[in-house]
Amino acid sequence: MLPIVIEDPASITVWMVRRGGRPVEHICDGGYRVVPAAKEGELCGCPRTMAERRAVARSGLGPKPDITVIFRLADAPEVGRFAFRTSSWDLAGELERVVAASSPTGLPGRFHLLLTTGEFVGKGGVRVRYARSGIDSG
Ligand SMILES: [Zn+2]
Repeated sequence: MLPIVIEDPASITVWMVRRGGRPVEHICDGGYRVVPAAKEGELCGCPRTMAERRAVARSGLGPKPDITVIFRLADAPEVGRFAFRTSSWDLAGELERVVAASSPTGLPGRFHLLLTTGEFVGKGGVRVRYARSGIDSG
């Protein structure tokens, strides 16, 4: 658990990205296209909820989260800003709630960046280790 400060809503970026080749097929904010520039601002067709988007992505047809959170360490803000990048579906949903609950002056806010590790045995007995990211209010 890492105490952090997120300074403003612009410090949280949750794009939905589908990399079907070059150029990237689909980049949006979950509602509107961001790329390509010629289509910026057009409705992208993604489902409204993160659970629905996840189901479409699992079918191989939808984009997946590409998340960047810019933050300062709550206990040492003077050392500078850091970027945390992940494609976590869980964190994408949590960050949508953080941004939706924030008034324009609701940030900066203190949060805890949570990183937990897990492990499971997959097909063929292959042991798989993973890190799960999350965020909660500090
Ligand atoms: Zn989309």
